[in-house]
Amino acid sequence: MNAKTPAAAASTSRPGAPGKGEKPAEKAAQEAQATTPQPGAKKVPATVEPRPCLCGCGEQITSKKGLFRPGHDARMVGQLTRAVVAGEMTEAQALERLVPASELLKAKVTRSIKLNVEKAAKKAQEAAAKAEAKKASSPASENVTP
Ligand SMILES: [Zn+2]
Repeated sequence: MNAKTPAAAASTSRPGAPGKGEKPAEKAAQEAQATTPQPGAKKVPATVEPRPCLCGCGEQITSKKGLFRPGHDARMVGQLTRAVVAGEMTEAQALERLVPASELLKAKVTRSIKLNVEKAAKKAQEAAAKAEAKKASSPASENVTP
């Protein structure tokens, strides 16, 4: 019973041990090392930079690959074809807009333009022929006069 008192007193009122001063410093150094960012830990995952859809709709693409929103490649083929057929731009200008796109899409546009230009030309020819036929069928007075 009596032996407990000196032991308790010794544990509570222990004078600063000579080695006690080194310990916190060591701990602080360890902590500092732990909080320092390590070169390997700073690895940033490859993020995809949103970019506008090539067709010009203004929507952003967030997928890793591709230049168009789903279905917008076909939309652009139609837009460029119409613009070329309407004479708003040349085929070269249309293809210029497709520079980042795949060769496949460029071929698609080239083919589409060719088909539609031919179609438009045929239509114009037919219209001209019709007008010509109409003119021929109507009495031409200057041909009749001797
Ligand atoms: Zn688009």
